[in-house]
Amino acid sequence: MVVPTTQPVIPNPHLSQNFDVIVIGSGIGGLVTATQLAAKGAKVLVLERYIIPGGSAGYFKREGYCFDVGASMIFGFGDKGTTNLLTRALDAVNARIETIPDSCQIHYHLPDELILKVHRNYENFLQELIEKFPHEREGIRRFYDECWKVFNCLNAMELLSLEEPRYLTRVFFQHPFACLGLVKYLPQNAGDIARRHISDPQLLKFIDMECYCWSVVPADKTPMINAGMVFSDRHYGGINYPKGGVGQIAQKLVEGLEKAGSAIEYKARVTKIILENGKAVGVQLANGKEYRAKRIVSNATRWDTFEKLLPPEQMPPKEKRWQKRYKKSPSFLSLHLGVNAEVLPTGTECHHILLEDWQRMEEAEGTIFVSIPTLLDPSLAPEGHHIIHTFTPSWVEDWQGLSTTDYRQKKEEAAERLIQRLEGIFPGLEAGLDYQEVGTPRTHRRFLGREDGTYGPIPRRKLPGLLGMPFNRTSVPGLYCVGDSTFPGQGLNAVAFSGFACAHRIAVDLGL
Ligand SMILES: Cc1cc2nc3c(=O)[nH]c(=O)nc-3n(C[C@H](O)[C@H](O)[C@H](O)COP(=O)(O)OP(=O)(O)OC[C@H]3O[C@@H](n4cnc5c(N)ncnc54)[C@H](O)[C@@H]3O)c2cc1C
Repeated sequence: MVVPTTQPVIPNPHLSQNFDVIVIGSGIGGLVTATQLAAKGAKVLVLERYIIPGGSAGYFKREGYCFDVGASMIFGFGDKGTTNLLTRALDAVNARIETIPDSCQIHYHLPDELILKVHRNYENFLQELIEKFPHEREGIRRFYDECWKVFNCLNAMELLSLEEPRYLTRVFFQHPFACLGLVKYLPQNAGDIARRHISDPQLLKFIDMECYCWSVVPADKTPMINAGMVFSDRHYGGINYPKGGVGQIAQKLVEGLEKAGSAIEYKARVTKIILENGKAVGVQLANGKEYRAKRIVSNATRWDTFEKLLPPEQMPPKEKRWQKRYKKSPSFLSLHLGVNAEVLPTGTECHHILLEDWQRMEEAEGTIFVSIPTLLDPSLAPEGHHIIHTFTPSWVEDWQGLSTTDYRQKKEEAAERLIQRLEGIFPGLEAGLDYQEVGTPRTHRRFLGREDGTYGPIPRRKLPGLLGMPFNRTSVPGLYCVGDSTFPGQGLNAVAFSGFACAHRIAVDLGL
């Protein structure tokens, strides 16, 4: 008997088709680009290396728990204004997700007993902060009110591609004051504005942490546009958790994409962007398959796109300049815990930030981030249990070159350190553990396909606000980038913005 040595060839339904656009990666940035284009009638193919969509906004299930891979504090699900980009992205493909409002963005546990909550209600938050710093009453109000000015400008206009001159002209004539406001704030950082209003050093450290906990840099390096957005939208659209877990966002976008006549292929790792006469015309997968389209979009990080999918020796000068200004942020050490419900006292908030020493804010294993999504959606854990997802910055270098045993041991030790510190806010945590899984920068790199597992780009030094962040077009004709290494940066609502902008620019380029 002859044993077949090759797998039967399964006809690939996508091979014979002509695509308008190929999107490499199904993170929220990639999926928003794809769905926006599909809704405009384009034929889009999304190629995802993993088995489910979502990237850093994905999920995984273990022993009855449904864990969010990364993001749990979700902006962009409001029901008014223009900055509710997740609601709008889903809407565009007739998809909807029920969301659960969170009454508090963050419960801070900071050094010098600076313990306070950022309430959804703006005045309640200001009152709580002013109680801690009564001598800065005026400064606090002036700083956060200035953030509202930025937000109100953004929230007055449709957020599309800033690389599209006709859109810019139209928006300028419709909203001249809002546009001028944004132009003013675009090159500024939150730290400079904070110092104009506030002088108490501890309060300035608090503002640093307010920025660091989503930008992973202190206020001096955090663009004012992003700060204005985050510090206001949390009180305007609010933080809202998608029922069924964060993974639902990507799942619903994929459903919408397919209903609109476009497609996604999983386990489709792109290894090369095919260039012809210097123009991006297609992609090659790890299994050798090739697909072609009129336009190619990379939702991989810029480092992965320009150093792995394209020949690094041909990196365009613009990218080299960008790399001189921005570097990779650290990755995270993530601890996904299942705990007995009794561990959490009544009134526990969903999101916490823990730091015991200001000097360590930016260090590896300095600041600890905690999300407990089951306080909002109990269906994500078995009855009587909660999920605690906690993570802290960590560098991939610290996890390289270890034997399997050493790697496992190092993970256990790191988890133990985190748990001991968390005991400070949740006494009895260790005794109440039901499930534990540790993810390292290596895990992030492997499962998210992100170079060094990085959270995204951060400025190497103080830069003029957001001016240095690239838009979606690249120096390679036909190739666009989308996601957190493009304007305006990290976070689900931010990458959704990048997706709207990318799709808009491509739609204009394709005459859709
Ligand atoms: C631990 C953690 C916590 C976070 N918490 C929050 C939060 O609370 N709120 C918030 O708003 N944001 C949060 N973020 C940030 C947010 O999740 C990200 O900024 C955002 O999801 C990035 O989206 P993206 O579209 O840029 O890319 P990604 O999510 O990185 O998706 C890229 C996709 O492309 C795929 N891909 C890459 N290369 C290839 C290839 N060669 N071929 C095929 N597919 C490829 C990947 O598999 C992935 O699915 C968090 C991130 C992390 C890691």
